[in-house]
Amino acid sequence: MDLQMKNKLAVVTGSTSGIGKGIAEVLLKEGANVIVNGRSKERVDSVVKELSSFGEVYGIAADLSLQHESERFVEEVHKHGAVDILVNNMGMFEVKPFDQVTDEEWMTYFQTNVISAVRLTRNFLPSMLERNSGRVLNIASEAGVKPLSQMIPYSVSKGAMISLSRGLAETTKGTNVTVNSVLPGPTWTEGVAGFMKGAAAEENKDLEQFTKDYFKDNEPTSLIQRFATVEEVANTVAYLASPLSSAINGSAQRVEGGIIRSV
Ligand code: NAD
Repeated sequence: MDLQMKNKLAVVTGSTSGIGKGIAEVLLKEGANVIVNGRSKERVDSVVKELSSFGEVYGIAADLSLQHESERFVEEVHKHGAVDILVNNMGMFEVKPFDQVTDEEWMTYFQTNVISAVRLTRNFLPSMLERNSGRVLNIASEAGVKPLSQMIPYSVSKGAMISLSRGLAETTKGTNVTVNSVLPGPTWTEGVAGFMKGAAAEENKDLEQFTKDYFKDNEPTSLIQRFATVEEVANTVAYLASPLSSAINGSAQRVEGGIIRSV
């Protein structure tokens, strides 16, 4: 299927690893020009080099949890033209009991997982509306509707992303611009792989058995009983970023293998 995104300009935040990098790769393969981002310039340069065989890719290093860095990022993006596709992907998480999370840490969650997306959308959405064309995708999480007791600030921030997306979609009424959130479930990224390998080794289990047990014990409602791949999440995002998905607006698209037990 041709996703019809040749020469569209896409910005994918937090795309030097994991899901963001996977999204950047699929969009490039579909013909979009992609701006990748991460905090470290070295890492951004290395990913630009790695992905350049797939298409026109540019890199802008910036810590988008910080206002001044975000402003500089926006200025640099404008040099490449008008943004057609904005994917607010970057995010942080930590496993920590609720009573140990400080006010400062709560604020960091909001700056990183929510306000970064608010700022970029505030900058790029108006021009999409003027041009009557554009896509905003906010990467939330299954945790946004099924909060995790050991990751409450993360879950709250992802709930906020879902609400933000729906609210913004309301502002696109009658246009060809759409705003949707995407809710991945457990996804096999380098970070997750490192964590699972360490945890399996600690229990003297092989990774395959450990992963099976993990889903049986911790994610019994998962229908796929495995991690999603980065490609599975990225392909979903690419479809929502395409003109082909023009009737999908204001939705919270699950890619969580059925973990959320509701229709
Ligand atoms: P990851 O840690 O592998 O990658 C995160 C990326 O964000 C990296 O490129 C990192 O450099 C970048 N980043 C982090 N903070 C940044 C900042 N302040 N400024 C700029 N870049 C920053 O993460 P991932 O697992 O691929 O997750 C991507 C998104 O998907 C996140 O929003 C995450 O919450 C969400 N998600 C992931 C999973 C999962 O199982 N992996 C599940 C549900 C939702």
